[in-house]
Amino acid sequence: MRHVVVISTGGTIASRWQGDGYAAEAAGREVLEAGAVPQDVEVRVVDLFTVNSSRLTTDHQLRLLHAVHDALADPEVDGVVVTHGTDTLEESAFFVDLFHGDRRPVVFTGAQQPLDAADGDAAGNLYDALLTAVSGRDIGAVIVFAGQVFAARGTVKRHTVNARAFGDPDGPPLGRVEFGRVSWGRRQPRRAPLPLPERGSATPRVDIVMHHSDADSVLFDAAVSAGARGIVLVGTGAGNANPEIADAVRRAVAGGVRVAVSTRVAAGAVAPLYTGGGAVDLAAAGALLTGTLKPGQARIAVLAALLATGDAASADVELRRLLDTAPKTAPASELYLVDGVGH
Ligand code: ASP
Repeated sequence: MRHVVVISTGGTIASRWQGDGYAAEAAGREVLEAGAVPQDVEVRVVDLFTVNSSRLTTDHQLRLLHAVHDALADPEVDGVVVTHGTDTLEESAFFVDLFHGDRRPVVFTGAQQPLDAADGDAAGNLYDALLTAVSGRDIGAVIVFAGQVFAARGTVKRHTVNARAFGDPDGPPLGRVEFGRVSWGRRQPRRAPLPLPERGSATPRVDIVMHHSDADSVLFDAAVSAGARGIVLVGTGAGNANPEIADAVRRAVAGGVRVAVSTRVAAGAVAPLYTGGGAVDLAAAGALLTGTLKPGQARIAVLAALLATGDAASADVELRRLLDTAPKTAPASELYLVDGVGH
C-alpha cells in the first residue's frame, strides 16, 4: 500500500454554484469522493482551508508550507497532493518548491470546472495527481493538470477557462499521465532548499508594479512608501522601463528594498540588452533580473528569500542563488524517478 496525504485548500475543484457565482465550499473528503483513488493507494485528507485562490495571503501559503512539512514528517507517507485554486496555484506551488528538500513529491492540482459539473475535470486531475505523488522522486513540487506533469518552477496558468490550463512557456513538461501510468520525459535541476521560516513568521510586503507606455514612477514609489521590502518590476520586452523608473529603482535599492525585474511578455528571459531605462540600467541601479520567471513567481522568489533570512544581505545572497539560471544540480546518480503505478 502507498500512502498519500491530500491537503485541501479550496479553489474551483472544491466549488459549487452559490446562486450568483461559484465559490469554494466543499471539504477535502467531498473533493476526493468526486473521483476514484488509484489501486493500492491510501489517502489521508487534511482540510487546511477552503478559499478561492485569488483570496490567498502569504499567511495561507505559510500554513500550507508547514502542513506539507508536517505530512512528510511521517516516514510512511509516499507523497503529498495539494488541491488548490488555479488562479494562484503557480505561486503556492513555487513557494512550497523553494523550501522543499525531500525526495518525496508535492503534487499540486485543481480543476477548471467546478465540483458539481457533470463533465468536470476534477476527478481526472486528482487521480493523475495521486498517481504522480506515488511515482515521482526528486522532482520537488510539481503541477499535474490535464494529463501533464510540470515542474512548479516556470509553470504558469495560460488559459482562463480551458481544461489545459497550465504550461511552461519556456520548456516541455516533466512527464505525462496516460492510461494509469506516469511517463517521465525530462529532469529539471533542483536547487538546495531554503531554510523553513518559523510558524507564524511576520510576512513582508512584496509588491508587483507593471511598466507600460506613459508610465511614471508614482506606483513604484507608492509601493516603497507602503512599506514594501521587495518589489517586482514587470518590464516591457526583455525587462525594460524608462530613466525615471530606473532612478526610482536606485532610490529603493539604496533604501534596502529588494527589486527584481521580470517581464510582461509570455515567454523568454529578461536580459540586459537596452540602456535608456532598459534592463542594463535597472541592473546597474541594483535590481536583480529574474531569468524566465514570470511576475507571480518572481514575486514568490523575493518573498521566500525574505522569509527565509533574517537580514537584507542574506536575503540578497539567497535571492541570487534562487535566480541563478545555471544552478549546481545533484549528481545524476542521486536523481531518480520511479515508474508510475496503478491502473
Ligand atoms: N477562481 C478559482 C480559484 O483560483 C479558479 C480555479 O480554481 O480554477 O480558486
